[in-house]
Amino acid sequence: MQVKILGSAAGGGFPQWNCACANCRAVRAGTFQGKPRTQTQVAITEDNLEWFLLGASPDLRAQIEATPELHPRQERHSPIAGIALANADLDHVLGLLLLRELQPLRIHSTASVRRILREDNSMFGMLHRIPDQAKWTDFESGEEFSLCNAQGEDSGLRCRARSLSTHYPSYVTAERQAQLSPGEASLGFFIHSISGARLAYMPAAPQLNETLLAEFEACDVLLFDGTFWSNTELIRVHGGGKIGQTAQQMGHVPVEDTLVKLAGVRRPRKIFLHINNTNPMLNEASPEHRQVRDAGWEIAEDGWQFTL
Ligand SMILES: [Zn+2]
Repeated sequence: MQVKILGSAAGGGFPQWNCACANCRAVRAGTFQGKPRTQTQVAITEDNLEWFLLGASPDLRAQIEATPELHPRQERHSPIAGIALANADLDHVLGLLLLRELQPLRIHSTASVRRILREDNSMFGMLHRIPDQAKWTDFESGEEFSLCNAQGEDSGLRCRARSLSTHYPSYVTAERQAQLSPGEASLGFFIHSISGARLAYMPAAPQLNETLLAEFEACDVLLFDGTFWSNTELIRVHGGGKIGQTAQQMGHVPVEDTLVKLAGVRRPRKIFLHINNTNPMLNEASPEHRQVRDAGWEIAEDGWQFTL
């Protein structure tokens, strides 16, 4: 399995258009010891020909152009064969609208996420203008499924989704939420190849428990929620008010807690991604950055790739 990290920031990217926190200011001033990042996007392949996207970020067009493996090889073509959606968050699904140019695609999602996008948001109808465009396949939490292209051909990559949160995005109406299955709101993926390589993808994890830790120990690479350093980071940086929520309230285990809880997980290469622009570990001169590296973790950067 080949894995490419096309984007590694949380929603809003780094720097974020309406943010002048110390990190964002320093990036704009050219004085930051660290890198800007686009919004989280991962692509995987088993055969180096057909690629599958985990989510579809709002930065997807630029991320595809920055990645030669994802460029078309014929006049009308894309190596992108399909997408697996872990939730219906805007940062995770807006990129679908950028893939609308009559391109055949397979979209794997839970029935709840499919209903939100297809039944409540008519813009996504642009993916269904002709019969051979987007094909949707539902998966259930806990069930293993094969990532397939639009024609239904098996990629050799098998995926198991794990429910991580019952929280739907706030744009989903209360009436609709009452009709949806809570366990289909937000998931993480365990993906394995024919050769047995295992990848865990968990960009939004509200909590950690013993079952999850045991599943991580069976993986080769763990891509984990690096959104916030501490629980009160946003409140400290931006003060109270509407954006003054804790990391836990926003559905993210703080990195400083993850370092402690996952200290005993030894097997996988451990990589933080989905990093918010306020997170002090983005600054490579910071004690937080040093602490993460000393704990054996890596901090994802756009353009990273590896084979497992
Ligand atoms: Zn900022």
